[in-house]
Amino acid sequence: MSEDRTRLLNLYEYTRSELTELLSEWGQPAYRAEQLWQWLYEHLAADFAEMTNLPRQLRDHLARHAAIQPLRVLEELVSRDQLTRKYLLELPDGETIESVLMLYERRRTACISTQVGCPIRCDFCATGKSGFRRNLTAGEIVAQVIYIARAARPFAPADARPLTNVVYMGMGEPLLNLDAVLKSLRILTDPKGFNMGDRHITISTAGVVPGILRLAEEPMQVRLAISLHAPTDELRDKLVPLNRRYPIAQVRQALQTYFEHTGRRITIEYALIKEVNDHRAQAAELAQLFAGLPVHVNLIPVNPVEDSPYRPSPPSRVKVFVEELERHHIPCSVRLRRGLDVQAGCGQLRSRHLTPTAS
Ligand code: SAH
Repeated sequence: MSEDRTRLLNLYEYTRSELTELLSEWGQPAYRAEQLWQWLYEHLAADFAEMTNLPRQLRDHLARHAAIQPLRVLEELVSRDQLTRKYLLELPDGETIESVLMLYERRRTACISTQVGCPIRCDFCATGKSGFRRNLTAGEIVAQVIYIARAARPFAPADARPLTNVVYMGMGEPLLNLDAVLKSLRILTDPKGFNMGDRHITISTAGVVPGILRLAEEPMQVRLAISLHAPTDELRDKLVPLNRRYPIAQVRQALQTYFEHTGRRITIEYALIKEVNDHRAQAAELAQLFAGLPVHVNLIPVNPVEDSPYRPSPPSRVKVFVEELERHHIPCSVRLRRGLDVQAGCGQLRSRHLTPTAS
């Protein structure tokens, strides 16, 4: 390799006060850090040369020692309807992750990764099948959001922010990398910078109970989604192996605590797999499980992945499942299967890029 990108400081690792400290070590007054912060998070600058209110010398110093684009795009896939854009991004050490921009009528959502690969290995998930490599740093998480925000800019009305929502639903398990995730949240919600409202951020977990409880104690009240996928331990043990460690009753209890601390309705993710978890009786069990806790169930016909026997539930079975949930007064919606043609199912694009020799 001709260049070593790992030696450059990733500026997105720093909170505003840490950046102030860094610049003060470089002999710069605090207001320079504020200016740099604005370039990073208000203007989404992609080049130090844009930062015309910084002295030339400081810009040169930054260009030599710091990265403003720590992620390098290897591939961009645009869905046929143009509404889903998926990016394969290379980290400074050569590992790869996926980030997605999803355009809706009024929302522009970034779906970002928190780990390279994933240790949880859900039976239907392409990311899990590729194994676990490492945690992302806070700066690598933030850099994805900024990358996707830049990509979203052409689709945002002139007076609107480029991104309206951020979901931690890409590759990896956010609650197994909680320190970095929390730091990234502090950076992204900074009112003087990117200023993303915590209500517009969702963290999705496979059910890491200690992480849910820790998140419940945080002053930042992000939305929580739980990838349930099965109403009984017997089935969930198979689909989401983490269930053997934190069975459904414990997860249910942690969600209750989360609700008591935050007052926020919880999202239940449920991938409908034909004749595995889509029976009417299972919908009734799911409803019973969450009686008394404000939840919204997101149903999504499973995305078929390679080497997996699981097939998506056909519309007729989805309909029955929805009817049964509604009969029990459980609010639910069927998510559109978007971006299938860009392999927007978690981990699928990266898997295709991994060479057979990669471990
Ligand atoms: N580890 C976290 C976040 C990443 S996965 C979690 O488990 O929630 C994001 C969502 O995509 C999860 O709900 C996951 O269960 C779901 N998912 C993964 N593979 C899928 C597939 N093939 N079809 C449908 N949903 C899938």
